[in-house]
Amino acid sequence: MADNTPPHFTCDVAIIGAGTAGLAAERVARSDGARTLLIDDRFAGTTCATVGCMPSKLLVTAGMAAQAVRRAHLFGIDATPHVDGTRVMQRVRQERDRFVAATKKGFDDLPEGVAIKGCARFTGPTALTLDDGRTVSARAVVIATGSKPIVPEPYRALGDLVDTNETIFDRDELPRALAVIGAGALGLELAQAFASLGVEVVVFERGERVGGVHDPVVHDELVRILRQCMTLHLGVDASPSPGNGGVVISWDGGSKRFDRVLVSTGREPKLEGLGLNQTGFALNDHGVPVYDKRTMQCGDAAVFIAGDADADRPVLHEASDEGTIAGRNAARFPKVEPAARDLPFTITFTDPPVAMVGEPAREDSVIGCAPYDDQGRAKVMAQAEGMVRLYASKPDGQLTGAVMIGPGMDHIAHLLALAIMRGETATSLLELPFYHPTLEEGLKPGLRAICHEVHAPLPPRDQGTPPGA
Ligand SMILES: Cc1cc2nc3c(=O)[nH]c(=O)nc-3n(C[C@H](O)[C@H](O)[C@H](O)COP(=O)(O)OP(=O)(O)OC[C@H]3O[C@@H](n4cnc5c(N)ncnc54)[C@H](O)[C@@H]3O)c2cc1C
Repeated sequence: MADNTPPHFTCDVAIIGAGTAGLAAERVARSDGARTLLIDDRFAGTTCATVGCMPSKLLVTAGMAAQAVRRAHLFGIDATPHVDGTRVMQRVRQERDRFVAATKKGFDDLPEGVAIKGCARFTGPTALTLDDGRTVSARAVVIATGSKPIVPEPYRALGDLVDTNETIFDRDELPRALAVIGAGALGLELAQAFASLGVEVVVFERGERVGGVHDPVVHDELVRILRQCMTLHLGVDASPSPGNGGVVISWDGGSKRFDRVLVSTGREPKLEGLGLNQTGFALNDHGVPVYDKRTMQCGDAAVFIAGDADADRPVLHEASDEGTIAGRNAARFPKVEPAARDLPFTITFTDPPVAMVGEPAREDSVIGCAPYDDQGRAKVMAQAEGMVRLYASKPDGQLTGAVMIGPGMDHIAHLLALAIMRGETATSLLELPFYHPTLEEGLKPGLRAICHEVHAPLPPRDQGTPPGA
């Protein structure tokens, strides 16, 4: 008689989720000598490639191209952008599909038998069952199941009129009028991209702040810049209803019809159905097992968590780092070692970009401001706006953080991250060469202001320069 028992697998490390975090965890665990299984319900490509970083940046870049044409007259070049929405969306998908194909190639390159397609759930601390009944026993498990968009109830009822990041890039056309619900970093990037492409965009945000920007001065500059191309309602409760073949959004102060709505009200870890109750873990407010951020270990179990699934720092490089830490510790369990974590670092790809590096300002922080509204290179580029707010500590002016908005800030943020991680002071940075005319030299007034404030020496070439100059 045929044995109909579903197959049972054993391994050293089972990883649930083949996204950026899971792939990193699997790679590291295997290179550490562990027998690995990488379980994913779809193997459709990472969130980054399919519905995240890459398609959003493709759309953002299309919007910037349209804006560049609109700004061309400033250089004596007359042009009007004619935006062909169908071709814009076609290119987004075409290029996205290339990125997706590259991530899928990564799956193909896995050693035979490592990839297992199925939806996993825990049946014990390190025992899993897949949706087709196959079972897995592992010495250790890494949870890397990612996150999903939160869609509040009234929007769910609107069906096809509502988009999230999971559907919007598959639209064939640009809408004429788009409501964006939620002004977090992801919502703002897409809202501004659509606005730059000629879509009438209105953003509704329940809170008073946008983009998670904690520096009030940079925050206000971001709001000012965004309002140049779209309407931004802050501190309002928007409620939707279907109407005139579209969606009518009503709020305290008005109501307006839109062709579609983009819901961008945050993301939550994908842990539902994972059977975490079978593991006996204590869960935090997000429903995430309580874990150590330096080891990624959940309690003292042979279970580790990484990437968006842990609801902390939901950005790609962190998913990759956390996967690496989790995979290594899972392979070496019970020898679990803490790893140093990078400084907080986010970039929002608005135009111009916003970036935050290091720690927020404290009450006793020294703040040096480098304005870019009169900065040489920024003026050359006809993009003179924004500022960098540099935070430093007393007594020597060591940099601790920075928040910025302005041209090229996605690059400048990397320099500042490096400087903060290396323990540089305002003085030591001013000792480095700055080429002229560059956006980088725009940092000098802020650095000099810090030196002035903490009475730190200026390098000889900066002596005699008034602070702020
Ligand atoms: C619109 C958007 C733009 C973004 N832009 C940026 C950016 O510019 N820069 C940046 O750094 N970050 C950006 N991010 C964030 C970044 O994409 C994520 O932080 C990162 O992709 C998370 O990777 P992950 O491995 O945790 O999850 P994922 O890549 O989502 O992988 C999780 C995998 O687990 C699978 N899975 C889930 N549950 C199960 C189960 N029970 N069994 C089996 N498999 C399961 C899923 O199908 C999926 O394949 C953006 C995100 C979005 C949404």
